[in-house]
This record gives sequence, structure tokens and C-alpha cells, in this order.
Amino acid sequence: MKIVHKGHLYWPSTLKHTNTYPPLGQAMEADVAIIGSGISGSICAYMLAKTGLRTVLLDRGEIAAASTMANTGLLQFCNDIMLCDLIDQIGERDAVSFYKGCRDAIRQIGQITDELGTEVGFQPKKSLYYASTEQEAPKLRREYETLKRHGFDVEYWDAPAIADHFPLRKPGGAIVTHGDAALNPFRFVHAIVDAAASRHQLVVHEQTDISSHETDGDGTHVLHTSAGPSIRAKHVIYAIGYEREELRSQLIRSTMNRTYAIVTEPQLHEPKLKAYADYFFWETARPYFYMRITEDGRVIAGGGDEESNRLLKEEAAQKYSEQLHRIVRSLYPSFDAPVEYEWNATFGASRDNLPFIGADPSWPGVYYCLVYGGNGTVYSMMGADILLALIAQREHPLSRIVALDRPSLQPI
Ligand SMILES: Cc1cc2nc3c(=O)[nH]c(=O)nc-3n(C[C@H](O)[C@H](O)[C@H](O)COP(=O)(O)OP(=O)(O)OC[C@H]3O[C@@H](n4cnc5c(N)ncnc54)[C@H](O)[C@@H]3O)c2cc1C
Repeated sequence: MKIVHKGHLYWPSTLKHTNTYPPLGQAMEADVAIIGSGISGSICAYMLAKTGLRTVLLDRGEIAAASTMANTGLLQFCNDIMLCDLIDQIGERDAVSFYKGCRDAIRQIGQITDELGTEVGFQPKKSLYYASTEQEAPKLRREYETLKRHGFDVEYWDAPAIADHFPLRKPGGAIVTHGDAALNPFRFVHAIVDAAASRHQLVVHEQTDISSHETDGDGTHVLHTSAGPSIRAKHVIYAIGYEREELRSQLIRSTMNRTYAIVTEPQLHEPKLKAYADYFFWETARPYFYMRITEDGRVIAGGGDEESNRLLKEEAAQKYSEQLHRIVRSLYPSFDAPVEYEWNATFGASRDNLPFIGADPSWPGVYYCLVYGGNGTVYSMMGADILLALIAQREHPLSRIVALDRPSLQPI
């Protein structure tokens, strides 16, 4: 099994009891088999099982234990690639549709959390997207005007407006976006899997490694497991995170980065906590720093991405945690709680900053939900919606934009 994070992760401490599901013990049949129980596979499983399809969710490890557990839980409709740059890359109509798709996906996650009736840390937030340097201010303004023109709920704060809200000197100003949300990804994934299993007959098997995949003469997919029993299914979804060596397709164009995250001890009674807690903070620099506050008064921060998929031991990662903590202190000077959790993790980025979602162009009945990029959770929701449509043989307005064989990827 590929190790995708190292260190001391925060989210498992927020859910003391998790349901476990048995490994596959005998051969079975399903309409849809989903490989991977991170946030991508789990949302797909929830949505598909809800429509009445016989769905099985399979993972070689445990639910939500890979990249999803390393996730810092920011849901934002603004992406690693600005809307104005995405317009240059894929054209105005598609770029705006994609951004609106991200905004809708956050709302959809909110609707699912209402259906669950379990506390999963979903809370509406605003984001303060500041210019890292004064030179980046014109670009940020252009982005603001583009977002505004296309109906997104945004404001532009100049330096005095920022200083009115926070003790920050940001001469280049900031965009404030409305419509973002915070999530506890670990609790969310466990809650949707449990709900789909108990309410919608989702079958779940942990510790079930899919070792090979072939198609019968009649088009039925046969998934073989390392332990022996196999699964026959009409459709197969690969939601395997960044485990790209497993992929049959050669279409994935991506780089692997190492990224860092910290979570501090709580400082619940810090007087400015409420004001800070309403916002996510991030910036125009690439790689970017980001920060959010948890409900129990901790700061979660991350960034420092470097191109590498080699993870560091805790001692070697220490200096990156210290760097992140220093940035937290510079943005939020009165918050002085020490770091309690810190980890580094692999993070996949596609070359055109878009996820890979859709059908395998040369293998009928095989689909992918590979959510490369900083908005993986948002893309997971978008992916589930698209794959639901494709499996039901319906058109989806975003499917062409994120398809594995999208023409816009070819020149990159
Ligand atoms: C530090 C960090 C912070 C992040 N912060 C955010 C954030 O704030 N907001 C956001 O939207 N995104 C964020 N992301 C990105 C987000 O975490 C990922 O996009 C998302 O979790 C990917 O989920 P996934 O389900 O696709 O993959 P994973 O969670 O990696 O799940 C893939 C699963 O597939 C299983 N699998 C693979 N191969 C097989 C096989 N052959 N048989 C059986 N099972 C198999 C694995 O065991 C694994 O459980 C962050 C990522 C990192 C690393």
C-alpha cells in the first residue's frame, strides 16, 4: 500500500469510534463496484446507492485513511488556477461553468450533511484571498472583476478595509469570497459510508485489495482481489487517489508534490477568535499558504508544497511546521497556541489544474474520479454528480471539461 502521509494527523482524534467493515469473503455481483473509500469513492457510493443501484465500495485499507485523512477541510469555489487564467486556458464558457460547478458542489455537500443528520463540521465560511505582494494586486483585481462579472458573490477589500477587520498589513488588498465552507473530511466520509450502508444497502469491504481487472465476453467487469474472491460488476469506478501506477489509462498527466500541514492546540478564549473563525485565509503566491480555525479554537494551516512524492520523517519535517507556525503568528499575532499535530503528505496536481473525472475512452463501463488539485473535496462532489449522470447515460454539462481525453490537456 502506498504511504501518502507521514506524521501525527488531527482528524482521527475527532472521531473516537468508527464502524469497520469486513474484507470480501466470497464472490459477489453488483451494478457498480467502486475502488477506493476516500472522499471520492465514498461520495460516489452514497449517491449511486441512493438511486437504488447495487453498489459495492472496496478499499485495500480503511475508510478515509489515505489522502482524505490528510485533508485540511477547506471547501472553496476559487481554485488553484484563477478564473481569469482558466478562461485563457479553456475559454470563457467552460471556465465559468467549471467555477460555478465548484460553487454548486459546496452547496451539494451542505445538502448531504443535512441528510446525514450527523455532526461533520460543515460550516459556511468566507475566504480572504490576499495579494502576497503588492505587484500581484493588479492580477487579483482582474480576478475580482472576472468573478464579479460572472455573478460570483465577491468583494474587494483594499489595505485599509483589511486592517479594519484584522491586524494585517496587506497593501495589495484581497478578494473576499462568500459561499465557501469548512468540513471535517474524516467524520464526513465515515458518516456518508455508514448512512449509505444502513439506509441504501451499500455493501462495504475494507482490507480488500483489487489486484487485477478484466472484462468478460459479455462486457461484465471482473475484479480480482489479492485474497481470492472476485466481484462481477456492470460498471467500475476507480477512485484510487494518487495511486497512479495502478491506472490502466495512460491519460493522466500530473505531478506529485509534498505538502505540509499543522494543527495547533486550542485557544478557545482568544478574543479575536470569532472574527478569524468566519474566514479562510489564503494568498496569490504559488505554492500558497492557507489557514482556517476549527470549531474548538485551533488553527489549521498548510502549504509549502514542493515537487516530490518522498515523504519526510517527523524530525525532518519539523522546520516546515515551524515555518507554517511563524506565518500563522504573523497573520494572527494574538494567537499563540503551540503546534499539536503536524504531518506531510503527497498531493497530486494535474498539469492543467483540473481533475480527471469520467469514462475511460477505450474501456466501456470503466470510470475515474481522480481529484487532483487543492480542491479535491469539491471535485469529489462534482465527480459523483458527473459519474451518476454518465452511468445513467445522461449528459452532464461539466463532463467534457474534466474528461480524461479533454483536448485542452493535449498541448500541456
Ligand atoms: C495536506 C493536504 C491538505 C489538503 N487540503 C484540502 C482541502 O483543504 N480541501 C480540499 O478540497 N482538498 C484538500 N486536499 C486534497 C484532498 O485531500 C484529496 O483531493 C482527497 O482527499 C482525495 O480523495 P480520494 O478519495 O480521491 O483519495 P484517497 O483519500 O487517497 O483515497 C483513495 C483510496 O483508494 C484506495 N485504493 C487505491 N488502490 C486500491 C486498490 N487497488 N484496491 C483497493 N483500494 C485501493 C486507497 O487505499 C485509498 O483509501 C488536501 C490534500 C492534502 C495532502
